[in-house]
Order: sequence, then C-alpha cells, then structure tokens
Amino acid sequence: MASETIFSKIIRREVPATILYQDELVTAFKDIHPRAPTHILIVPNVLIPTVNDVETEHEAALGRMFTVARKLAAEAGIAENGYRLIMNCNQHGGQEVFHIHMHLVGGKALGAMLS
Ligand code: IMP
Repeated sequence: MASETIFSKIIRREVPATILYQDELVTAFKDIHPRAPTHILIVPNVLIPTVNDVETEHEAALGRMFTVARKLAAEAGIAENGYRLIMNCNQHGGQEVFHIHMHLVGGKALGAMLS
C-alpha cells in the first residue's frame, strides 16, 4: 500500500494550495517553489507513486493531465512561445514527491534539456 503524500491533502483541500483546476480525475496547482514564471503541477487524484506504477486503468487520468496542461498553458499565455512538460521517476529522475505529477513549466526560454 503506497503512502500518501502532501499532494493527496492538496487534492482533498486539507492543506493550502493555489488550485488552478480540478475535476473528477486530476488536480492542478501552483508549485510551491516555482522554477519559472509559470510552474504548475498536474496530478491524478488517485495516488500513483511513480510512472513505474502506471496501469491501463489510469489511462483516463493520464490523458486528462495532457488536456489540462494544454488548457492551463493557454490560460497562462505561454502556449504560443512554448513550454515544457516534465515527469520525474525515482531517484535518478529526481523525483521527490511520490505521487506522480506533470510539471508544466514556461514563461521564459528554457533551452535544450538534454544538451
Ligand atoms: P519532483 O522532484 O518531480 O518530485 O517535484 C516535486 C515538486 O513538488 C517540486 O517542484 C516541489 O517544489 C513541489 N512541491 C512540494 N511540496 C509542495 C506543496 O506542498 N505544494 C506545491 N508544490 C509542492
């Protein structure tokens, strides 16, 4: 049984967060330590610890994460210039919170990631 993280409490609105979007599948909120002018986390409401734990039953939520990313990028005014979507997995991927999340990062030129 996976342990809950702070993100489950944010989803249930038990701790403060700037929630920008929520539906029955996903929640999106501002990252508490933004690395760019726009830095939003989009998470499934169900606890999936890492990408290694993704199952076919999660596909609806995972797909919704992308449509919500598109919508929030447009609302933030960063769609045309562009942005980066990031999902970190486990230690080598730099994952710190074990409830999968998509980082939506933009509002400045980010450069090439794998150079
Ligand atoms: P990771 O390294 O991909 O796991 O990223 C975790 C992200 O969660 C980091 O960018 C943190 O700044 C962010 N974070 C951690 N706790 C909170 C919180 O309570 N509210 C919003 N963002 C958080």
